[in-house]
Amino acid sequence: MRFESLVIHGYKEVALGEKDVSPAIHLTTTFERERDGSYPEGYSYTRRENPNRTTLEQTLALIEGGAEAAAFASGSAATAAIFMALKAGDHVIAPNDAYYGTGVILREVFARWGLAADFVDMTDLAAVKAALRKETKLLWVETPSNPLMKVTDLAATADLAHGAGALAVADNTVASPALQSPFQHGFDMVLHSTTKYISGHSDVLGGAVIARETGNDAFTRVRHVQHAVGGVPSPFDCWLALRGLKTMALRVERQSENALAVAAFLAKHKFVEKVYYPGLPGHPSHALAARQMKRFGGLLSFQVRGGEAEAFAVAAEVGMITRATSLGGVESVIEHRASMEGPGTRTPANLLRLSVGIESAEDLIQDLDQALTTAYA
Ligand SMILES: *Cc1c(COP(=O)(O)O)cnc(C)c1O
Repeated sequence: MRFESLVIHGYKEVALGEKDVSPAIHLTTTFERERDGSYPEGYSYTRRENPNRTTLEQTLALIEGGAEAAAFASGSAATAAIFMALKAGDHVIAPNDAYYGTGVILREVFARWGLAADFVDMTDLAAVKAALRKETKLLWVETPSNPLMKVTDLAATADLAHGAGALAVADNTVASPALQSPFQHGFDMVLHSTTKYISGHSDVLGGAVIARETGNDAFTRVRHVQHAVGGVPSPFDCWLALRGLKTMALRVERQSENALAVAAFLAKHKFVEKVYYPGLPGHPSHALAARQMKRFGGLLSFQVRGGEAEAFAVAAEVGMITRATSLGGVESVIEHRASMEGPGTRTPANLLRLSVGIESAEDLIQDLDQALTTAYA
């Protein structure tokens, strides 16, 4: 099956002999044993396994083109599980503009446990190479990055990681499996915050780690962390993520079309200084993005003329667009990113991040135009 069919029909291949067209929700923490002590369906306790979670995991593995997946209660819980699979003394290289929370997890949680991390500009391959050491066990790539929309060469970074004997892990949240396949470029594991494009409706948190091949030792440890530590999603969370997933191909197509139209409009606006969107021909990595992405996605950022006050003023004037954090939902949301990220942020003070939804592009452009015009009047 092709991607558009797989997001809808993938789960039928893994459902437990159900005839439900929409899968049943298994709201149980525990499963009955047979008289001989066995568990014929393989399910014993929901922290370890639940049919809704298995269905979601196997569907995510299918659509990402991987072999197996582990679902978590959030993208951050999934990220932490990957670092828990390493040990004290190991070294991680991560992008200096990684998702803000990923940097927090490495610097504030795992540094105290002896996991070393260096943060580099992933678009500078010489810098990545220079940061590799013999203790480097994992290279973390996130492309496009957020909120500066830098594009990292997936094939080149996977090669660098493997040349040093390190695991190549891609946070594929911003592109989504609809647009980009890190496994095709040699990555070993993919991380998703399923909260974003996969679920798509701003109503459920979730995360997943997907392995390209079975028998990956690091993934075996991630699975053990999932079972033992238990940062798992509820059966209903899994059901919601799977329901959202069914429309992902359509949503991301529309979001990408809308974002391109909005980015082109903003790039010409007199109150806008700079637009960050890989779909614009002027983006420094436009050609690379065109090679490794099917479309350019629904996320963009722009700097307005002036500073933080002007950025807040523009955000204050939007009407249809919602002022909120997060991304990947059907509704467009705008956010002053630096104030959300907090101390140590590298995000410019006059930057607004826009997650473009599936509304009418004309309405989005009209709303942004009136917000900009009113804010600078
Ligand atoms: C949101 C996000 C995360 C964290 O996911 P949560 O579900 O919020 O914990 C990680 N990486 C990226 C790129 C994200 O956008």
